[in-house]
Amino acid sequence: MELNIGPHTFEVLSDEATSLHLASEGRDGDSDLRNLRIRIRHDLPESLWRETLLHEVIHMCLALTHLSPRWSDEEEEDLVRALTPYLAMVVGQVGTARRPKF
Ligand SMILES: [Zn+2]
Repeated sequence: MELNIGPHTFEVLSDEATSLHLASEGRDGDSDLRNLRIRIRHDLPESLWRETLLHEVIHMCLALTHLSPRWSDEEEEDLVRALTPYLAMVVGQVGTARRPKF
């Protein structure tokens, strides 16, 4: 699948080979701005798969804002982990929200 983040189209890889590779690194997912690629383990439960995808999307959003260099890897990871569950709960609602009519 593909995912648009700003003007960029990311390829989202989630297949058996990706799962094996990520598992060997002890990761559920990763993201690569230079190659516009996000990889997520295919063998995750659906809800965890979605949350991991959102986690990687947030990393890419931060990278695209050029704010990432202000933080250490650990600080960015803490920020992304803190934001992800809250955004996961609301992102679908915001996407379908409509302005009330008077
Ligand atoms: Zn992360």
